[in-house]
Formats: sequence, C-alpha cells, structure tokens
Amino acid sequence: MTVRIAVVGGGIGGLACALALNQRNLDVTVFERRARIEGRGTALGMWPDALRALDAIGLGERVRRTGVAQQEMRFRRSDGRTLARLDVGRLERRTGDLPVLISRTALISLLRGTLSADLVRTGQPVEPADVRDLRAEYDVVVGADGIGSAVREACFGAAHRPRYSGYSAWIGMVPSDEEVSQEIFGRGRKFGVTPAEAGLTNWYAPIRVPQGGLGDDPMTQLRDLFGDWCDPVPSLIERSADAEILSYPIRYLAPRLPTFVSGNAVLIGDAAHLMTADLGQGACQALVDGVALGRHLAGGGDLAHALNQYDRERRRPAQRVATAARLLGSFTLRPGLSHLRDLTFGAAGTLSRHEPRPSRGANTASASVSDSGVRTK
Ligand SMILES: Cc1cc2nc3c(=O)[nH]c(=O)nc-3n(C[C@H](O)[C@H](O)[C@H](O)COP(=O)(O)OP(=O)(O)OC[C@H]3O[C@@H](n4cnc5c(N)ncnc54)[C@H](O)[C@@H]3O)c2cc1C
Repeated sequence: MTVRIAVVGGGIGGLACALALNQRNLDVTVFERRARIEGRGTALGMWPDALRALDAIGLGERVRRTGVAQQEMRFRRSDGRTLARLDVGRLERRTGDLPVLISRTALISLLRGTLSADLVRTGQPVEPADVRDLRAEYDVVVGADGIGSAVREACFGAAHRPRYSGYSAWIGMVPSDEEVSQEIFGRGRKFGVTPAEAGLTNWYAPIRVPQGGLGDDPMTQLRDLFGDWCDPVPSLIERSADAEILSYPIRYLAPRLPTFVSGNAVLIGDAAHLMTADLGQGACQALVDGVALGRHLAGGGDLAHALNQYDRERRRPAQRVATAARLLGSFTLRPGLSHLRDLTFGAAGTLSRHEPRPSRGANTASASVSDSGVRTK
C-alpha cells in the first residue's frame, strides 16, 4: 500500500521534509497558502547540524557554495569597544564545517528548485477546520505551517500559542561587503550585522518595545536610536533609506508542547517549537526536523512507531534550543542587565582567547554542544 503524506506549509521545514520523503519514493503533497512560494526576509545562519541535514537531501554543497562561511563573530559596545571575538572557525576543526550565512530567499529557491513542481499546491491555505478532513484523506499530516500553525491549533487547541517576547526587530538587507558578523549592544537594544551572499549585508535591530510599538517610520526611529553608534551601524541605516525594511514582533511558543505528535498528525519547525531569533536556530531546527521525520517515515515500519521515534529524537533537543534562545534574548536586551551583559561577554572573550585548541584528529563526536550553535551566535 502506498503511504500518502500531506505537508501543510511550503517553507523551510516543509520543503526539506517533502524533499526527504520524495527522494525515498513516498507519495507527498505540499499545501502552501501563498500563491507563490516566496523567500522574503533575513539572512539565515546555517550551523553544522543544519548543513548535515541539507547534505542528507543533497543540498549541502550548493548551500555552502551560495552562502558565505562565517569565521568569526564579534560582540561590541555601541561606542565601538570590542567585548569578545568568538572564533567560530573552531567549529570547523571539530566538525569539519563552518556555519554558512545564506539569505532566506536563496535557501527557499534551492529547496523549491529541487522539488518537482507538481508536488506543491500553492494558493491552498489549510484552516484549522480543514485539518480533520486532511487527516482522514492522508495517512500522515505534517504541520510545517510556521508561527500561527493551523495544524497545531487543530490538534492541540489555542492554549499553546505564540507569545510576545517583549522585543521586536527591524530587519534590512543592503548591498555592502561586510565580512564579519557582529552584534553591537546598547541599553534595551542591539544591532546585528551579518554578510549574506553576493555582496549583500543583512542587518537586524531588536528593540525592547510593547507589542505593536515599533511604529511605521523605521528610518526616523533607527536614526534616533542608532544614529550615534559606532561604524558600520549609521552607514548601514543610511544605505537602507531606499531599501525594504521589515518589522517582526519576536515571539516564542508557550507553553511548550508535551508531544509533537497527535494521532496521524505531526509538527515540525516553528509550528512545533517557535523560538526567538537570538541563537539564529529556528530554520536550522526546522531543517533537522524535516529531514529526521522523512527518515523515520521512510523506514517502512509502522507509521505510529515512526512518528513516535521522530518525537523522541527531536522534541527535547529542539525545545532546549528554544529555551536557550529565550534566555539569551532576555539577558542581552533587558536594560537593567546591560552592565552585567557587557561584563559577561567581555569575560567570555578573555576566556576564549586562553582556551586550548583541540589537538589534531580530535574526536568529532564530542562536539555536540557547539555543534548546535548554542554557544556562539
Ligand atoms: C529576525 C529573524 C532572524 C532569524 N534568523 C535566523 C537564523 O539566522 N538562522 C535560523 O536558523 N533561523 C533564523 N530565524 C528563524 C527562521 O526564519 C524560522 O524559524 C524558520 O523559517 C522556520 O521554518 P518553518 O518551515 O517552520 O516555517 P516557515 O519557514 O515560516 O514556513 C511556514 C510556511 O507555511 C505556510 N503556511 C502558514 N500557514 C499556512 C496554512 N494555514 N496553510 C498552508 N500554508 C501555510 C507559510 O506561507 C510558509 O510558507 C530567524 C527569524 C527571524 C524572525
């Protein structure tokens, strides 16, 4: 009997999952609400665990070639003083891989371009009320429908929902050749800069504001809040005057889910464990989820067992990353903790300069902590 799988949501996790299933000859259909699968947004840091997931679906090398490898991450104060330089390149010595920065647009295009067009039904929103019929028609329904997941709501109710973190971000992408990723800290706000591919620089500016408080005049606000900061902040802001500036309320899922599985429905990515952007891990975890679920479903055994195996493999690690991201966000953006934050980052920078380098041929299996990217971005 052919196993039929519906994937709700053609974003990063949904497309990766569909690709993993299709490559193993399972019958998969993606339902995407947008008429076109678009990739507006930020540059995404792909950490080694996500690159390995992309390798498993044959896209790792193309992502490494398209994106920009990240060697170092700097943390500075708004007056320009460097607090810490993190040698991200150490990951390569441990795992054989450097994190890669790639724009969301490019990543979605690579995923989308590898999947046969007839497997994706665009302009097909799935409402919570439709999920029951979908579950009756298909053997498995994968909820990959992101922040406001209809599948999550249908299976777990509205109690588990996105909550506002207390901060929102302006985001832009401008032509520029910044080579080093950096985060520059002020009181209750920070400014992040990362290279993206092809001469583009991505910036993001999270600010502590009440929900909906960002206003609709980003340039005035950005000039007010960051105009007297160290380079390259003011110049990136000025270069954004004619570019699109996006705003995001940063949210996380609370309370967290007791399971990612409900009958024959299963959640991946933001639908399962929406997290704040502080560790740059949401898309990475969505990719790892999608590929892991594809592997378990393609195992050929009992479907309920496969879904439970996926839940056992992915739920706790993904939820731990979500918790770590939220704690880091509170720590770096709470105004009362600015001084402690700067001292802590300064001390971490000093310690990392004295940390012994791993010997050649060190066991890569011991790299799991930094492998998830949790220590660095
Ligand atoms: C400012 C910012 C910076 C970030 N930086 C990073 C980073 O550096 N690294 C990183 O790994 N992550 C980062 N992230 C997080 C990352 O963007 C998300 O975690 C990731 O996109 C989640 O993937 P997903 O597939 O779960 O959801 P999405 O990519 O959001 O895809 C969901 C898809 O489902 C569709 N959909 C929604 N509802 C329905 C419906 N009812 N019916 C049908 N289709 C539907 C949507 O149109 C969309 O195509 C960042 C996020 C933000 C906000």
